[in-house]
Amino acid sequence: REWILRQRPGPDGFQPSDLELRECPMPECQDGEVLLATHLMSMDPTMRNAMAGEEAADRTEGSAYYKMMNWAPGSVITWRIAGLVLESKADGFSKGDMVFAQAPWREINAVSVGALQKMPEGVSPSAAFSCLAMTAMTGYLGVKHVTRPKPGDVAYVSGAAGATGLIACHTLKQMGCRVIGSAGSGDKVVYLQSQGFEAFNYRDESVLTALKRLAPAGLNACFDNVGGETLEAVLEMMNDTGCITLCGAISQYDSKPEQRYGVRNLFHIIAKRLRVEGFIVGFFPPEAHAEASETLSSWLRDGKISDCSSFVDGFENLPDGIMGLFRGTNTGKMLVRVPLE
Ligand code: NDP
Repeated sequence: REWILRQRPGPDGFQPSDLELRECPMPECQDGEVLLATHLMSMDPTMRNAMAGEEAADRTEGSAYYKMMNWAPGSVITWRIAGLVLESKADGFSKGDMVFAQAPWREINAVSVGALQKMPEGVSPSAAFSCLAMTAMTGYLGVKHVTRPKPGDVAYVSGAAGATGLIACHTLKQMGCRVIGSAGSGDKVVYLQSQGFEAFNYRDESVLTALKRLAPAGLNACFDNVGGETLEAVLEMMNDTGCITLCGAISQYDSKPEQRYGVRNLFHIIAKRLRVEGFIVGFFPPEAHAEASETLSSWLRDGKISDCSSFVDGFENLPDGIMGLFRGTNTGKMLVRVPLE
């Protein structure tokens, strides 16, 4: 079976019926390919931007991100998975290997060697996803190369109990910051505190009220995954010459452009001489990715970070994985898990 994008989401946001599960022919493994059984499927908020596709591309002619993130209705979706090699006609891969792949959302795929990546030795597939893969790279590289904090900085991370946010928090802590994170449930707050961060539940207390309470002298740095009203509160709380790293804006993705939140206090950027910088992880140079991979692997080995993943079980339940990101059902990396026979 495979998942296709049936249609772009409408005014009410993403609905499971925007996707369609259909039967497809069993693929055959050609030379230079492996036959791969899908085991874990990465769920990422930006998939929602890719579903919006054309609409987003119309607004930003020439943007490399929007060109990449444009799924065509009617086509099978290709994204990050971990899978088990059932048969190999590719050098360097054998039956029984667990690998990462960029592959279509199918239960079984024939994948060419160029789209495969070995799983790091001694690391479970979910730990590799949560601590070493794309979202971990985003949290680490975004903090290191964009936020560039100083020891002693007071730093705030929104979406802190998510895959990217957690690694951003850990990276800020390793760089000597005092870290305050927000998340949408009491359990997530407890988890963040267990990791050595201060935390609050933005559903119980507004971001502005909580930041005034926890950081009365203001913020030096912010790593924002949420956007909208959260960003507005952050602008209010920033100290002179601080940095706001714009990593994501999940509060704004599942709506039409005209429904999005208009941040009202952008003048703070000027008055406080703030650096406000967005980034896309894939555009850091290869040597930065290599260094991030080495550092995150050593943190995982030394227990400075650990596997934190949430699962939606069953290939057919994939839409729940996407909905869950927007409802906050995940702590850490959201994965759809397909049982291996
Ligand atoms: P997460 O694991 O953080 O999952 C999404 C989380 O967002 C949910 O668990 C939920 O947690 C929170 N959330 C959902 N809706 C809202 C809302 N309206 N207001 C506040 N919080 C909300 O996902 P990722 O780690 O994959 O992604 C996090 C962010 O990082 C996204 O914005 C994403 O687009 C961005 N990103 C950017 C990249 C880049 O290169 N710039 C690369 C990868 C990700 P809660 O319970 O706390 O509400």
